[in-house]
Order: sequence, then C-alpha cells, then structure tokens
Amino acid sequence: MTYAVKEAFLTLQGEGVQSGRRAVFLRFAGCNLWSGREADRASAQCNFCDTDFVGIDGPGGGKFGDADSLAAHVEGLWEGNRDGRLVVVTGGEPMLQLDAALVAALHERGFRVAAESNGTLPATAGIDWLCVSPKAGTEVVQRRGNELKLVWPQPGIDPAALEQWDFDHFLVQPMDCAEGEAAMAAAVALAMARPKWRLSLQAHKVAGLP
Ligand code: SF4
Repeated sequence: MTYAVKEAFLTLQGEGVQSGRRAVFLRFAGCNLWSGREADRASAQCNFCDTDFVGIDGPGGGKFGDADSLAAHVEGLWEGNRDGRLVVVTGGEPMLQLDAALVAALHERGFRVAAESNGTLPATAGIDWLCVSPKAGTEVVQRRGNELKLVWPQPGIDPAALEQWDFDHFLVQPMDCAEGEAAMAAAVALAMARPKWRLSLQAHKVAGLP
C-alpha cells in the first residue's frame, strides 16, 4: 500500500488524556467527511475542521511506498533512544490508510501507536490508544476505545447517548471557532452538569506548538 502523508513532525500531544506527552504526529492526507476544500465546507458532513489535511506538501510529508519506509520515516523524526516512543496517527481520517502492516512496523521500532479517528470507519487492530471524536449527523461504527473526545457544542449530538459507549475517558473540548468564548462556556457547562465528562483544552495552541 502507498501512504499519503500530509505532514509528520515531533511535538507535544496537545489534547486529551495524553496531553503534554512528546510524540511524533503522523498526519495522513484525506478525510471521508470533507474534501478539505473551503468551497465544499458548507455542504460537508463535517464543517468545523481546523486542520489542513490536503496534499502531501507539509513538513515531513510525502508518499511512502510501504509500511516499513513510513515507519522508518517516523523513527527518524524521534530524538533519543527507544524510551517513551509514541506516534499519534491522525488526519484527516487515519483509518483510511492506517493498516495492520503499518501498526506492526511501528511496533517493531518500539512505538506505541495512538490514533485519532472520527469513528465512521472501524479502527485498525493493534492500536494502543484510540481516541474517537464523533461528528453530528454521521454514523459512528467505532463505539469502543480509550477516549471519546466530543468537540462542543455540536447540535444533533446528545452527550447522554454517548455516555453509553464503551470508552475509558469522556472528554469535552470547546470548538475552535469564531464563537470561541461561547464554545468554552458550553463545554464548561457540560462538564459541570455531567461529571462523566472532563474538560479538555488544546494545550499545544496555548504553548504555540503545531
Ligand atoms: S472528521 Fe476530523 S479531519 Fe475530517 S473534516 Fe472533520 S475534523 Fe477534519
């Protein structure tokens, strides 16, 4: 399989339970809920995306002909020995490209594999840490994982219904949008009203990291 990577870089994970951990971010190109073109945003299934996942022109991006060469690329971005190796596979929608061969190749190099998915595709087997972030109006098939990250507010999503899904952690994260203050207030209100949820903030943006 050929993999299309938008960008790959070493940084700190900024979101969720793993926030603050050093990790290689591996961002695949492409998503099944939006083309990534602004002209299509209004009609997309997901229209609040804050990520550029189009093409392979970002730092560390490119085409990789097989799992081993991509895993070697990830390893080359890590600094230091094998201690604490973590790769966060994201996108776009990573389950369009993340396959068992790549998970195995990353494991061989000592990486724990975390992935961040919209949940509309089944998660690849062998992932060590799975974050699912549901989008209103989509059919989420992956209802089990380590953390459920709800970007809020999203009309059409009922947090009480999500609480029935099989996740270890339930995180509510204010939507990064023009109405940011209102989104923060809504996320705080949800966490205050429903103690199963924890407020998650985008620490990498506070720290000025990509
Ligand atoms: S599902 Fe995720 S990557 Fe795809 S458009 Fe929505 S926020 Fe962006």
